[in-house]
Amino acid sequence: MIEIANDATCVEGVNLADIAARYGTPCYVYSRAALTAAFGAYRAALAGRPARICYAVKANSNLAILNIFAKLGAGFDIVSGGELARVIAAGGDPGKVVFSGVGKSREEMRQALAAGIYCFNVESANELEHLNATAGEIGKRAPIALRVNPDVDPKTHPYISTGLKSAKFGVPFETAVELYRRARDLPYLEIRGIACHIGSQLLDPQPAADAAAKVIELVDRLGAEGIQFAHIDLGGGMGIRYRDEAALPTADYLAPMLKCIEDRTEMLLVEPGRSLVGNAGLLLTRVEILKHGEEKNFAVVDAAMNDLARPALYDAYHDIQKVGAGKTALGSKTYEIVGPICESGDFLGHDRELALAEGDLLAILSAGAYGMAMSSNYNTRPRVAEVMVDGTTTHLIRRRETVAELFAGEAVLP
Ligand SMILES: *Cc1c(COP(=O)(O)O)cnc(C)c1O
Repeated sequence: MIEIANDATCVEGVNLADIAARYGTPCYVYSRAALTAAFGAYRAALAGRPARICYAVKANSNLAILNIFAKLGAGFDIVSGGELARVIAAGGDPGKVVFSGVGKSREEMRQALAAGIYCFNVESANELEHLNATAGEIGKRAPIALRVNPDVDPKTHPYISTGLKSAKFGVPFETAVELYRRARDLPYLEIRGIACHIGSQLLDPQPAADAAAKVIELVDRLGAEGIQFAHIDLGGGMGIRYRDEAALPTADYLAPMLKCIEDRTEMLLVEPGRSLVGNAGLLLTRVEILKHGEEKNFAVVDAAMNDLARPALYDAYHDIQKVGAGKTALGSKTYEIVGPICESGDFLGHDRELALAEGDLLAILSAGAYGMAMSSNYNTRPRVAEVMVDGTTTHLIRRRETVAELFAGEAVLP
């Protein structure tokens, strides 16, 4: 967890008001100690067995964050050629990269083959053929795993559930054997593993354990045909606490899944995203205008749905605290916390009890995952700055965009 004092004053040893004064608002603030602790919890839980933690880059792809994980020994789970370029630029080892995604282009396949990634997580029969052909053109063998779809219900939001039969991800369980036979016969493929990923923000550890058990059954069936694996990739998806969710400690969440594979010799891969970065970041924003309506009180802040899309997109809850004052301060009112964007869906929180004045700073918590990574320039709003706290020092890890940069690539007709 990011260290936020009760009155939301500091991240590690740095005052949030000082960060706002120095870097402006809105800005994302991350804690290096929290990132390191989250990674350490995975490492401790997996100690004693061959395993690799492949951070899911899409959760937060800032180079400084990738570099911190690379230095801790992480591999990476990528979903685009752009993410591969980021991993390499951040000092990550392409030899520890797995490439997921249902629509890899030939260009991305070539780029990943040239970089020498560890494994392609193949998601369809046709992708196998495309990858074999592309690898053949450059005379390389492509290392592959099939992403199988174990058809377990992860009991999460439908938009972030990926392991059901109806989902676009992975290949159906029933066809996996046939596809592995096909892969074995294709000259430019090399079978390396098997993969699954059933969804995101999972709180109950049982679906992941059920998926692991089904995958193991399949591994044994394939083993009987002489198809063997160097690794088993059980994906990411562990949930975090945003509000009052009973999110388990990492070791407890992983325990039932690990039990299913305790006597296996294959290397275990996991692909955590949210659980490594979500609670290591917050979005710092300032109250611009208070608007007391007949039915509702609005606090219009300088951050908006383009900066943090999760509330608008998933109706997601983020705790919002006033910087430098307890929640129960005198004169509190119930506020809608909204941004300045011209959309009714532009809210960051509903019905929050806060004592606010214009100019106050707010910390929107648990914003480290799928926050900056999903931000956009809607309403021609420059993307915000990102700041990393490390003890008592701060580092600007991405400067605020300028408006001129936003239309620098555009042209008017002659
Ligand atoms: C998004 C994704 C992850 C990471 O999911 P989290 O819920 O953030 O842990 C891992 N693997 C794949 C294939 C993904 O698409």
